[in-house]
Amino acid sequence: MSLLENKDDIKELVDNLNFKQKIDRSIALIKEAYQKYGNSLIVANSLGKDSVCVWDLAKKISPKIRGFIVTTRFKPKETIQFMKKTIAQYPELKVFKNDQEIPDKLYKTDPDRCCYILKVLPARWAIKEMEVNCWITGLRCTEGRTRTDFKEVEERDKGLIKLNPILIWKEREVWQYLALNGVKVNPLYGQGYRSLGCAPCTKITTGEDERAGRWLDTSKCGGECGIHTQPLKINVSGDGI
Ligand code: SF4
Repeated sequence: MSLLENKDDIKELVDNLNFKQKIDRSIALIKEAYQKYGNSLIVANSLGKDSVCVWDLAKKISPKIRGFIVTTRFKPKETIQFMKKTIAQYPELKVFKNDQEIPDKLYKTDPDRCCYILKVLPARWAIKEMEVNCWITGLRCTEGRTRTDFKEVEERDKGLIKLNPILIWKEREVWQYLALNGVKVNPLYGQGYRSLGCAPCTKITTGEDERAGRWLDTSKCGGECGIHTQPLKINVSGDGI
């Protein structure tokens, strides 16, 4: 049976597959999707640990697989430097950014709007410009409260398949893979961050929830920027404000 059509219980896979079995499953998912979608398959690379893990897995299948990065004016300088090094190594990664003017401190007054303008819109541009039919993400179901109900293969947008090939990996397994494969990571992890985003909206936290430091002290705490929850395959050209 096609792995892309599996109906397996995600929670059981998280708990019962070992590290090697999870890697094999992730590679099989990406390989099957690449065979099916070819050049219209794209990796969304946020430059976080999960993204660089998925990027490395995809590169093992084909060096030709392309990707996109959505960046914003508020990314920490370490992330910008890491991005520059990454795209120098992988020119097949295309960067999308929205430079339009926005109200001062919009991330405080209306973080949903800020994320929509600076993250969701450029992600839509990427999907359109790169003619994407299947996008691959580093989303994991054990990351936090908002990520428990995703599937390995989804079609939330009609005509746009979303593949989450490391959905069942635990945080420890991601680090295990990165260490064993010598994959470089954003130096901010060395300071104690566990989930990375824009500087004003990302804090160092401890505890169970990996994403607890995102949008801390706002209604959006531990939440989502919208790239994983809003439609991406729609015609967009306006400024979004
Ligand atoms: S993470 Fe914060 S600064 Fe970045 S786009 Fe969202 S609200 Fe704006």
